[in-house]
Amino acid sequence: MSIPRLQNFINGEPMANTTGETIAVTNPATGKVIYEIEIADDSVKQAAIESATAGFKQWSAMTAMDRSRILLRAVALLREKNDELAMYEVLDTGKPMQEANCVDVVTGADAIEFFANLAPTQVGQQQDLGGDFYYTRKEPLGICAGIGAWNYPIQIACWKSAPALAAGNAMIFKPSEETPRGAVELAKVFIEAGVPAGVFNVVLGEGDVGQWLTGHPAIEKVSFTGEVGTGKKVMASAASNLKDVTMELGGKSPLIVFEDADISQAVAAAMLGNFYTQGEVCTNCTRVFVHESVYDAFISELKQRTENNIKAGDPQDLEVNFGALISKQHQQLVLDYIAKGKAEGATVLTGGNKMSVPGADGGYFVEPTVFTDCHDDMTIVREEIFGPVMSVLTFKDEEEVIARANNTPLGLAAGIMTQNVRRAHRVIHQLEAGICWVNSWGASPAEMPVGGYKLSGIGRENGIEALNQYTQTKSVYMGMVDLDSPF
Ligand code: NAD
Repeated sequence: MSIPRLQNFINGEPMANTTGETIAVTNPATGKVIYEIEIADDSVKQAAIESATAGFKQWSAMTAMDRSRILLRAVALLREKNDELAMYEVLDTGKPMQEANCVDVVTGADAIEFFANLAPTQVGQQQDLGGDFYYTRKEPLGICAGIGAWNYPIQIACWKSAPALAAGNAMIFKPSEETPRGAVELAKVFIEAGVPAGVFNVVLGEGDVGQWLTGHPAIEKVSFTGEVGTGKKVMASAASNLKDVTMELGGKSPLIVFEDADISQAVAAAMLGNFYTQGEVCTNCTRVFVHESVYDAFISELKQRTENNIKAGDPQDLEVNFGALISKQHQQLVLDYIAKGKAEGATVLTGGNKMSVPGADGGYFVEPTVFTDCHDDMTIVREEIFGPVMSVLTFKDEEEVIARANNTPLGLAAGIMTQNVRRAHRVIHQLEAGICWVNSWGASPAEMPVGGYKLSGIGRENGIEALNQYTQTKSVYMGMVDLDSPF
């Protein structure tokens, strides 16, 4: 049986490469190849730039109202196709359908709706200078590149294209080679909605295709989601022609459970922030600091709920709430971290092993794992694992836990559980993180800006400010009187 092929999506349609080179894409829940992608070769890359140049010219000349109407049609189409698109995400990522059908496409569509509605509100300024005056225009940047990670493929493609397109830019998007389908489906939706051909192109391939984009002189901005190490390479390459960058990178985020917290809610937050999407979420609270006075109660409920309420299985089964890790290689990486945790003296409270799952044979599962007896200097407490591995630590007082929570080069997210409103604000204001939750974890609505402090990133996605990051200000000085010149 021949394997289905996914082609690059250029100038409004699929485009074949000339080299014939492909990469196989595997369903992580079965370990089986489901289709292959054609790698963008020189002919595809050239067409991507040429059509984006033409697309940008047409798109940027339209009024923001017209762009907004078209993007809102894309939102409606995404919602109509929700279950079909969610299923592609399940097959590509191994995440449960019960998440994908209410989060991945929905939050992607929300971002496009938010920025589509915001686009016509963008205005310049005008100021009188005593006869002469100046005004400003918010102009799009040109062709932007989006480069995505594999954990939320269609959501990432939507979050990057939404402000870019709303502001009048074109985008060439490179999805992760492990989960490429969502971006191509989004490109088709944009065309169906009436976005001109070339405004959103998708190029397929590995890091070298991403590198081509980041170094290309015709690209004005790069919005990247991925690991810190890759982010540094992307930024260095983008410096070649001083491209603007947005960087959404990794995290090692703290959740602080104070002595007055609602313990069941704290356990819910810790589990959501470690086991949702089988732990493959950048904002995960992989360092859970629990006040020593409530430690026993917290641990006992955490163990009971982790062992009884998590159901691994075929991710397409709507009862399943825990899926497979993205690849065999990643599964091994997570298992290696677990081995390091044990070797460095942490205690496995529950989990800690590879999992074989009936109904998902051959899938790359790892048990939801909780480590206790952790110390701040252990590898599992310092490094991002990107799997279902939680480290629980104890603390005695507020000042101490703030210092320990901040003692990391990363700063993506942070959260606290407390009933004390003054403490909530006091502590949150001292945490070095871009996304903070009080008595909550994980929600990321389109209205709220998200991004990292320190090594976790640069710039923000979502929220009003993200639109500004896709425009540049042109100042126009109007001389109303004759120039007074000494020459
Ligand atoms: P990755 O850095 O390995 O790859 C990300 C993307 O970059 C892929 O499309 C890859 O092909 C491409 N790439 C690789 N080398 C490149 C290069 N030299 N130049 C340009 N592009 C290149 O990351 P991943 O393994 O796909 O994703 C997991 C990471 O993403 C985790 O660290 C996670 O925390 C992070 N992440 C962050 C956010 C956020 O919003 N902060 C969201 C999701 C994931």
